[in-house]
Amino acid sequence: MNSPESVAVAKQSSALGHYIDGAVVPANGRHADVFDPATGQVARQVAMADAAVLEQALEAAQAAFPAWRDTPPQKRAHILFRFKQLLEENADRICALITAEHGKVLDDARGELGRGIEVVEYACGISELLKGEHSKNAGPGIDSWSELQPLGIVAGITPFNFPAMVPMWMFPLAIACGNCFLLKPSERDPSAAMLIAQLFREAGLPGGVFNVVNGDREVVELILDEPRIAAVSFVGSTAIAETIYRRGSAAGKRVQALGGAKNHAVIMPDADLDIAANALMGAAYGSCGERCMAISVAVCVEDQTADQLVAKLKSRINELKIGPGTDVSNDMGPLISRDALARVRSYLEQGVEQGASLVCDGRELKIPGHEEGFFLGACLFDDVTEQMTVYQEEIFGPVLCVVRVPDLESAMDLIDRHQYGNGTCVFTRDGETARFFSDAIQVGMVGVNVALPVPIASQSFGGWKRSLFGDLYAYGPDGVRFYTRRKTITQRWPSSGRRERAQFSFPSGQGS
Ligand code: NAD
Repeated sequence: MNSPESVAVAKQSSALGHYIDGAVVPANGRHADVFDPATGQVARQVAMADAAVLEQALEAAQAAFPAWRDTPPQKRAHILFRFKQLLEENADRICALITAEHGKVLDDARGELGRGIEVVEYACGISELLKGEHSKNAGPGIDSWSELQPLGIVAGITPFNFPAMVPMWMFPLAIACGNCFLLKPSERDPSAAMLIAQLFREAGLPGGVFNVVNGDREVVELILDEPRIAAVSFVGSTAIAETIYRRGSAAGKRVQALGGAKNHAVIMPDADLDIAANALMGAAYGSCGERCMAISVAVCVEDQTADQLVAKLKSRINELKIGPGTDVSNDMGPLISRDALARVRSYLEQGVEQGASLVCDGRELKIPGHEEGFFLGACLFDDVTEQMTVYQEEIFGPVLCVVRVPDLESAMDLIDRHQYGNGTCVFTRDGETARFFSDAIQVGMVGVNVALPVPIASQSFGGWKRSLFGDLYAYGPDGVRFYTRRKTITQRWPSSGRRERAQFSFPSGQGS
């Protein structure tokens, strides 16, 4: 959230506004600062929606819904195909906005956008995905079928760390299913979502089907209590995910709320340690550790494994190139905000105080010309134990903790005891270990020699334990289920001319 100082009343509306009913709505009223994390300077302001703005978006969505619901799925798919093409043609513009406001390196922004486009590609198959199930002759002259109908107006509330991809986990599929969508992006990097909404409109999407309402907690709370919104998809930190889930469910909505993570990689003694070290570098420090699937704990089985892995990681950390995301030769950009920098630094202090060995300390990093940027060097803790705060809590920064355990069983028990269960992986050459680990571990997404096992668009994304509140995962088949409700129709046409007498027993298929 923005600090109170950064939220002020806009005297004139130069701030980024909202996107409602197929047009930009200028900012009016409260606004917040959006920073360039590489310089630490305010780059622009963004409007903070109030009840009147939300009402405008809801009225637009309500007006658009009946025609959109009745638009044949293949026609919706035509628009999605054009949208995908426009996303590809405008990829440089979108990625420039991501890097300018989030700070991640441009190549990483391209990867994020690519993953979002894959969900659009999946949604292009909506005619196939919405096919119902048919039972002919469910009874004499009776046919029965199930169909998937849209919910109406659905909302998405998204975090700062994937300003294009996470919204695209939600709205392409929701809209393909026939719903109207209201997106509340992160107030820290809202510009990519605004451009994407305009591209969708350019692709032929009717006004009011996709609306972007910028804002903070105030509008989120209005969304949760709003009876015209049938479902809410949320991605963000766990405390807020849990609140959103409880409040939205209490208001009678369908809610899926994806929360935080602490993802462990288990390194077995038989693993190829060069492969593991390279994979861990990307998974721990890519995007400055600000990924919900980032590996933040390396659980090394046997001391010798840990000693060798730490040596390999140290030499790779020394070679890491850190700087502004606009320079594609950099591996890692800045953190999102001054608050995030202070929070991660405070975790580093706690780790040292509680006895972990800080073998790589990124706190002294200075980037010439970017002294005010929110940069922090890659940090590596060894000898981390289960009770330490740096182990228990999600740091969401470039900090990797090494925990030493004697065997696979201890590694798996440790992971299973953790409050989060988003992603995990094992590095091994042994198939039996890999199979046992992936079968038994209490985590939602598992990699075998794959450090970031983010499911592809035709699967679904979600964690276990306190990483997800709700029953259905994001995108893929679960996304279709989340954004539709099943209706089952049983129909008789007396085509044989047969007329039946009144029947008072309960109809069943039993008997002659
Ligand atoms: P956040 O929880 O601070 O914010 C997420 C969204 O909630 C934003 O749109 C924000 O405006 C809104 N929000 C913030 N405070 C609120 C409040 N008190 N009431 C209502 N709404 C509020 O998260 P963030 O810092 O933007 O993102 C980082 C977090 O997101 C990390 O914890 C990360 O693990 C998590 N995340 C999880 C996944 C996943 O798939 N599980 C994916 C990406 C990020």
